Amino acid sequence: MILIDQEKCTGCGDCLAYCSVGAIKVKNRKAGVDPHRCTDCYVCVRNKACPQDAMTPSSLEAFIDEFCHVISDPTVTTAETGVPGRGTEESKTNDVTGRVKKGEVGFAIDMGRPGVGCYLRDVEKVARAVCAAGLKLEPGHVSPIGKLMTNLETGEFLPGIGDKYFLSIIIEGKTPTSNMGGVIQALQRVEKEIDTVFSLGLVLRVDEEGRSAAIAELPKYGLPVPTRGKVNVGLGRPLVTD
Ligand code: SF4
Ligand code: SF4
Repeated sequence: MILIDQEKCTGCGDCLAYCSVGAIKVKNRKAGVDPHRCTDCYVCVRNKACPQDAMTPSSLEAFIDEFCHVISDPTVTTAETGVPGRGTEESKTNDVTGRVKKGEVGFAIDMGRPGVGCYLRDVEKVARAVCAAGLKLEPGHVSPIGKLMTNLETGEFLPGIGDKYFLSIIIEGKTPTSNMGGVIQALQRVEKEIDTVFSLGLVLRVDEEGRSAAIAELPKYGLPVPTRGKVNVGLGRPLVTD
């Protein structure tokens, strides 16, 4: 695949025309290559597409090493999402993005912790379990872990990367409210099969009274009704009305 040096890249977009499969995207004035789309034809590097010399061929190993660095070093911004730290805004801008709509529940499964960490093989087990239970995962330009997957429908990861170790990483997705319990139960089953910890964040849309029927359902699945949460009051624009 092709790596783009984010320090050198000016976001000019000159390289886009060289890629016949649309693997290169410019976002937040930085270019990035989708590793699942890049065919390694090297048309871009062979033709010196980049006036800044920011494009270099790279192995999967180098890509994963770079990915680990970006996700684990909070001073580095993830190119595709424009967000530092673990590269995702989670639910914090839901009023603008509208990712989780009424009638849906968003899941943020926060795996590992500083001092504990997590192997990707365990992350994949959890991703596969929640996908099988009907969670629709967010793509890589929204939630970086998607860039490590070969199939967002099943939660299958790139081959040979299970031994890679992270401080923490977030699996994000959503499901209809009616299926919230199914995903929670899948998590309760798979937690016995992994050698790390995770915390579960639920992204819920409340009604005009500030209530969510889904919260009241949690004790049915052995989970306490949360006494604290982050509240997005909807001051962002554009307002999401659905
Ligand atoms: S190597 Fe080929 S497919 Fe990959 S980014 Fe360059 S032109 Fe596109
Ligand atoms: S041509 Fe080079 S500097 Fe311009 S967007 Fe592509 S990688 Fe970045």
